[in-house]
Amino acid sequence: MTLLKAVRGTRDLLPPETELWERVEATTRRVFARYNFGEIRTPIFEDTQLFARGVGEETDIVSKEMYTWEDRARAQSEKSQSLTLRPENTAGVVRAYIEHKMGETGLLQKLYYIGPQFRRERPQKGRYRQFWQIGAEVIGPPSAGSESPLRDAEVLEMLASFLDELGISGWTLVLNSVGCSTDRPRYVAALREALAPVKHQMSEDNQRRAETNPLRVLDSKDPSDEAIVANLPKIADYLDEASKAHFAAVLAALDACGVQYEVNPRLVRGLDYYTRTTFEFTHGGLGAQNALLGGGRYDGLSEMLDGPKAPGIGFAMGLDRLILTLQAGQAESAPTLADAFIAPLSESLNAEALALARDLRRAGLRIDLGDGAFRIKKSFEIGNKLARKIVLLGEDEQRSGILTVKNFATGEQTKIPRGELAQALQNS
Ligand code: ATP
Ligand code: MG
Repeated sequence: MTLLKAVRGTRDLLPPETELWERVEATTRRVFARYNFGEIRTPIFEDTQLFARGVGEETDIVSKEMYTWEDRARAQSEKSQSLTLRPENTAGVVRAYIEHKMGETGLLQKLYYIGPQFRRERPQKGRYRQFWQIGAEVIGPPSAGSESPLRDAEVLEMLASFLDELGISGWTLVLNSVGCSTDRPRYVAALREALAPVKHQMSEDNQRRAETNPLRVLDSKDPSDEAIVANLPKIADYLDEASKAHFAAVLAALDACGVQYEVNPRLVRGLDYYTRTTFEFTHGGLGAQNALLGGGRYDGLSEMLDGPKAPGIGFAMGLDRLILTLQAGQAESAPTLADAFIAPLSESLNAEALALARDLRRAGLRIDLGDGAFRIKKSFEIGNKLARKIVLLGEDEQRSGILTVKNFATGEQTKIPRGELAQALQNS
């Protein structure tokens, strides 16, 4: 028989590394709550149509990266249905927004999520087939101010504060405006025109994109096409007055709170739903997969999914890449030691040891528990690996109610009455 392994592009996250993941998640919840975001949890799989329509048929994600299967009907009354593991979460959030008529509150909805996403990509450092995203969306009817450039700036400022609070420095915010339904068609037409005489010199992928979705050519990572891409028209020259004013207001608000940025007129991002502001935060320490997060405004997405007019802005952050950044240059984290290891000295004391452990745990201590079947030497060896102190529970201790506690770091041994043990372990 062959040994079963985690599937290519997926991996197990084990302690103590998971403690770092928990810390990042806790920081997310704490910081996002200050901006009055609430958590949303959408299903991990959805109707394939949601992504085909919401993310765009011509995107890399939908055209080649999705895990899709035909879900068999279980009864005659049911139809089989094409389902897909979510490759991203914005489409799911907007579906939920529409389904639960959140727009009818008249308020902005500020929602965040933390969860796994799935894309069939070539696995490499910082790129997996199951990866985690932390994302947030601000969405609502125009009357709630959802189109305001202040929303864009607030989200970007939140991200800057979040990364600062995590202790990640050295990031770069790159942003651009990709226009909207009124000015973008003119730009796309200009791109098509500029690409027509040169596209045959480009990679196969870009030749196809030049036909189906010319904006995607700008997003190309193919170095051989770089020179052609550099000479294509710039979107900034095609923005109408409203889009220009919107972008200028975003930049002014960022300036006002000291968030540094670079404007990159080539940044279009890989998803079709973006309008106006698009952005990425990159980090030099990540190598080829240098994007920590990406996002932007999606004023037409709800309508693309047959929902009400509900402009919005959001982002998705690669949690795996945040972790890689935090780990770089850091010593491998050591496992957290328990406050005490309880060692019953005979099997007849096991039950008593469990009761003692329960009392200490209820007092908030981190406790590990041995077994009376272990010889005392073995208890010390295990205890020394797992905990800062060992508490011995033998016949004498049971009779007298006074426990022997040894501190592994100092070698100091003390006798402590059972009733005072929790306090004593807490204080040292
Ligand atoms: P990339 O250019 O790196 O492929 P993307 O444009 O496909 O990123 P988005 O779809 O915007 O990325 O996702 C937002 C973030 O999610 C990315 O910036 C990245 O940090 C993370 N991410 C995307 N795909 C993966 C993956 N396969 N493995 C790990 N993280 C990923
Ligand atoms: Mg990608």
